[in-house]
Amino acid sequence: MQVDTANSEFHQLKRCPTCGSVSLNNEVECGVCGGSLAEASYESMGQIERDQAAEMAEEERKERRVVRRTESLGIVATIALVILGIGSLVGGILVLGQFNNLGSLLLVLLGMILLLEVLGVGIARPMFRKYLS
Ligand SMILES: [Zn+2]
Repeated sequence: MQVDTANSEFHQLKRCPTCGSVSLNNEVECGVCGGSLAEASYESMGQIERDQAAEMAEEERKERRVVRRTESLGIVATIALVILGIGSLVGGILVLGQFNNLGSLLLVLLGMILLLEVLGVGIARPMFRKYLS
């Protein structure tokens, strides 16, 4: 690849000492904060690209952390629902054995529906994620 002098001159950039934003080397004032670029350090395009790549990697790490937090919240909610489901199921069966009434039958049904729902979502979620991402 051939690089002529004018082109590499153009790619020489200044970094604002006040706000850290990047300006072209022929600018005397920062376009972002208006500060003087007299003491700004010159940076090559490669250096700035590396900085931007590092920033993007950091953003990505942050996003992944948020996803992980959401996932662990989902696990906690799932466990809570499973316990609730088993609780109403077992409780309903116990009450049903003693009193044989409609309310306890509904409690058993509620527990079964809750458990099926939780298990169903738990199985379906990885499939949904495949379409979402
Ligand atoms: Zn600035």
